[in-house]
Amino acid sequence: MSTDAPYHDFVPPHRVLMGPGPSMVHPRVLQALSQPLLGHLDPVFLGLMNEIQASLRATFQTQNEFTIALSGTGSAGMEAVIANLIEPGDRAIVGVNGVFGTRVATMIERSGGIPLPIESPWGTPIPVEALHDELVRSAPVKAVVLVHAETSTGARQPLQDVGALCRSHDALFIVDAVTSLGGMPVDVDGWGIDACYSGTQKCLSCPPGLAPLTVSPRGMSAIRKRRVPCHSWYLDLSLIAEYWNDHSRAYHHTAPISMLYGLREALRLVHEEGLAARAARHQWNSEALLAGLQTLGLAPLPQAGHRLPMLNCVTLPPQIDENTVRQQLLQDYGIEIGGGLGPLRGRVWRIGLMGESSQQAHVFTLLNALEEIFTSHDWLSQPGLAVQAAVATYTHSEGSARRSP
Ligand SMILES: *Cc1c(COP(=O)(O)O)cnc(C)c1O
Repeated sequence: MSTDAPYHDFVPPHRVLMGPGPSMVHPRVLQALSQPLLGHLDPVFLGLMNEIQASLRATFQTQNEFTIALSGTGSAGMEAVIANLIEPGDRAIVGVNGVFGTRVATMIERSGGIPLPIESPWGTPIPVEALHDELVRSAPVKAVVLVHAETSTGARQPLQDVGALCRSHDALFIVDAVTSLGGMPVDVDGWGIDACYSGTQKCLSCPPGLAPLTVSPRGMSAIRKRRVPCHSWYLDLSLIAEYWNDHSRAYHHTAPISMLYGLREALRLVHEEGLAARAARHQWNSEALLAGLQTLGLAPLPQAGHRLPMLNCVTLPPQIDENTVRQQLLQDYGIEIGGGLGPLRGRVWRIGLMGESSQQAHVFTLLNALEEIFTSHDWLSQPGLAVQAAVATYTHSEGSARRSP
């Protein structure tokens, strides 16, 4: 018997996923993923695709006919939107206040476009007035791209007034809703968004692998009127539309069948709970967590009013060796949280309460673990305050966030 052949079972250890994604997945979704396969043109499978489109429209709050789940993770959604809507020579304004805005700018450049970055300090939203000024100064501008929920900083970007502004300058409005969708309102039609992409692994609580995506009729017409075909064949939305369109169903690439089973079930869970109740649950759990963390000396990076409920980015007191504590959380308690990226490396933690991970039990588990670890390092004189502060917050919000699946 060969000892180096991997003939043993792989059993992942139990983890409480409280990082920046992936989030925990409901057992019903795991079960859906293990169902027998259908062909990608089987009428039963095509029916399932139609159901997914209808649930995605409800989740994005849009009537857009072109609303699909693209093969690939959230970054594939980002790349598809940029590669299809930005043609060589197009100018596109992009809000840059973290990792993901920076990634969008890179993709605009690689598509031959000219990124016009509007920068804000990490953790601070992009001011709408700055977008207005740049639209005037750099006209004509093809598109404005904003990241709704900047996962690298925990900052929430206000979007309400941007759609009308873009329309008055004949620019398309593109939004990254990878982390926000399923955890806070994303009102595609109400906010005048022309293209919005997301990912399955954050607040939708499905494994990574699909990118929900919706494009307005204005956006689709810009794609159809391109001067040159999209440089990416795989992500060419005009070709992909022919497969999702119920009247053509033309083969483009084989749909990831099992992932779509999983997404259907994840969306069913979203709508069983209801978008408003789900957003409220994310909000309450975040408030309780932050109240507890504050007693440990961990303060939220973004200002009040600009914080994300699903991604709590907190700064650390200088005496704390963040990497040691993070490894201890993982090894001894089975809890995953995220460290800082780029300029925030070593200075912050990013604690995700996304989708199924956003539970009162997880808030208490993490606060208890941190109190124990901090006490063992002599960083804490009076243990118990963090949990008390969280309890007080829940009591205050009348316990409405108490959902344990
Ligand atoms: C996670 C994330 C992405 C990228 O998604 P992947 O699934 O990692 O490809 C893009 N934008 C934001 C805001 C994200 O949080």
